[in-house]
Amino acid sequence: MFRDAVRQFVAREVVPYHGQWEKDGIVPRDVWLKAGNMGLLGMDVPEEYGGLGMEDFRYNALFLEECARVGANGPGFGVQNDLVIPYLLAFANEEQKQRWLPKLVSGEYIGALAMTEPNAGSDLQGIRTTAIRNGDHYVMNGQKTFISNGILNDIAIVACKTDPSQGAKGISLIVVERGMAGYERGRNLEKVGRHAQDTAELFFRDVHVPVSNPLGEEGKGFAYMMHNLPQERLVIALGSLTAAEAAFEMTLAYCRERTAFGQPIGTFQHSRFKLAEMKTELQVGRVYIDHCIMLQVEKKLSAEEAAMAKWWCSDLACRVIDRCVQLHGGYGYMLEYPIAKLYLDVRLDPIHGGTNEIMKDLIGRRMLGL
Ligand SMILES: Cc1cc2nc3c(=O)[nH]c(=O)nc-3n(C[C@H](O)[C@H](O)[C@H](O)COP(=O)(O)OP(=O)(O)OC[C@H]3O[C@@H](n4cnc5c(N)ncnc54)[C@H](O)[C@@H]3O)c2cc1C
Repeated sequence: MFRDAVRQFVAREVVPYHGQWEKDGIVPRDVWLKAGNMGLLGMDVPEEYGGLGMEDFRYNALFLEECARVGANGPGFGVQNDLVIPYLLAFANEEQKQRWLPKLVSGEYIGALAMTEPNAGSDLQGIRTTAIRNGDHYVMNGQKTFISNGILNDIAIVACKTDPSQGAKGISLIVVERGMAGYERGRNLEKVGRHAQDTAELFFRDVHVPVSNPLGEEGKGFAYMMHNLPQERLVIALGSLTAAEAAFEMTLAYCRERTAFGQPIGTFQHSRFKLAEMKTELQVGRVYIDHCIMLQVEKKLSAEEAAMAKWWCSDLACRVIDRCVQLHGGYGYMLEYPIAKLYLDVRLDPIHGGTNEIMKDLIGRRMLGL
């Protein structure tokens, strides 16, 4: 029933407008309010902060799947549900939860997570944004880039150094709010795909952030980020796999309809083998992702298993969608065909949320002891 309701919501409120949003490079705030109204934001947030208190990751997973299967990646709902809110639930104090969660749940507030900088992406310890305590506030200076919901965000969880002499141990997470003097957004970046999603630079110039805005303890930011990354990586894996499944289904239908040399193109042995290989790999991926989803439901998903899901599913999705484009022939290269858009959109997945090389490095170090 929940899937049906979500599918209808996406079909009614997102799909008809997505093409226009892609041209605009951004989605309207209105769709956020509608999602909030439907109870699709912060589903796991306790009722006292306006949520539904449904502490079961499968609801998040399902919402994400319903968006991914139709290529609706403009609204950054996943950033809100699976990145920003989990940090607040895990590390915000009571006053902060009351201040921010109800508005994130209703869609009045849009959240962002700002870790990456022009000179530090994979190497997060190398971030240079600083927030130096000065009485009752911190003075924040620095720059972030590639931030999802970068233009729309009302609050951004910013990874910064409160003690630059300490390396990783000097990193804290501090919430910066829209309207603070010196907090500015840069360009809405032009990307290869995902054109409806606002991805932007953020600038902090002597921003005075009150001492009531850091999450948790000062200096624990790096550990907090490591704690929350498995969920972020799982949702990338799930989005990637779901997009590949959708690509496969549309390609199979195309291969049944399209004829060449007097027969459906799917019946050439080469195409049949390719489709059979893809079906097999997608099914293997689905079984593993379901396993990871259940681990996440039980809050037992390890960083290593999340990394395995992230690199393997995103790698698979790129391979599968590339083959699907090929099976579409020239039409696969036309942006009016959803397969072409999926090809551009999914290319992000091996890169963000920690690159696939970083995932393999993590597995090698932590699982294999290498
Ligand atoms: C569309 C988009 C949205 C994003 N959204 C967000 C967001 O909301 N918040 C946020 O904080 N960030 C976001 N990012 C940033 C993203 O997480 C980073 O781009 C990513 O982590 C890689 O960092 P980098 O771009 O600095 O690449 P680099 O770290 O410079 O890496 C370049 C290459 O070197 C390789 N490499 C680096 N170190 C190693 C190593 N130790 N071993 C082997 N290979 C290595 C990488 O794998 C990669 O191939 C987003 C990025 C994009 C493109």
